[in-house]
Amino acid sequence: MSALWSARVPVESPPRPAEDSHYECVVVGGGITGATTAVLLARAGIRVGLLEARHIGAATTGNSTAKLSVLQGTRLSTISRKQSADTVRAYVDANLEGQSWLLAFLREHAVAHQVQTAYTYAQSGRGGKAVDEELRAARRAGLPVRYIDQLDVPFRRAARWRSTTRPSSIPWTCSPR
Ligand SMILES: Cc1cc2nc3c(=O)[nH]c(=O)nc-3n(C[C@H](O)[C@H](O)[C@H](O)COP(=O)(O)OP(=O)(O)OC[C@H]3O[C@@H](n4cnc5c(N)ncnc54)[C@H](O)[C@@H]3O)c2cc1C
Repeated sequence: MSALWSARVPVESPPRPAEDSHYECVVVGGGITGATTAVLLARAGIRVGLLEARHIGAATTGNSTAKLSVLQGTRLSTISRKQSADTVRAYVDANLEGQSWLLAFLREHAVAHQVQTAYTYAQSGRGGKAVDEELRAARRAGLPVRYIDQLDVPFRRAARWRSTTRPSSIPWTCSPR
């Protein structure tokens, strides 16, 4: 199944580079990683070429759910089990930096997007324990998460809910409109 937005946006193959093209740096792959790297290099004044085998966003990026969220399942508690608090905090700081850079880029280029509060939730008692652990890991990493026990969602609840969220004044989940 492809992402909804790929059905609405015409796919354009990138132009073939001229044979006598010269670049100081060539980035391979036009997903979020390659495209962002190429933009940053170009902004730093480097003559950069971006090579893409298919079209921009052809693979994982174009078929993701396109959220820019710092809460990613149980990632923080998972990392915390094997890494120091400083490492987890550095991971969170890098995520926040990337999120705010991309959000600024979207605003600068008038790309339609939504800013929403993000939630980590569970549908079972076992999942609830995992969410509690994630909440503690997020707090240790300095994220202003808070605990709520009810979610207004349009689908049926399987069991009790546990959720963590950040105040909506801090934009942290962002998805295409
Ligand atoms: C279902 C799903 C949902 C997701 N949802 C989210 C989400 O909501 N938020 C989030 O942050 N992350 C999400 N992710 C993860 C995220 O999409 C990936 O981490 C990210 O898109 C990876 O980007 P990338 O640029 O590294 O790779 P890709 O997007 O895969 O880009 C690689 C590009 O390189 C090109 N390429 C490969 N080989 C060559 C070659 N030899 N020559 C030229 N070009 C080449 C490919 O065609 C492709 O365009 C999701 C992932 C999946 C699978």
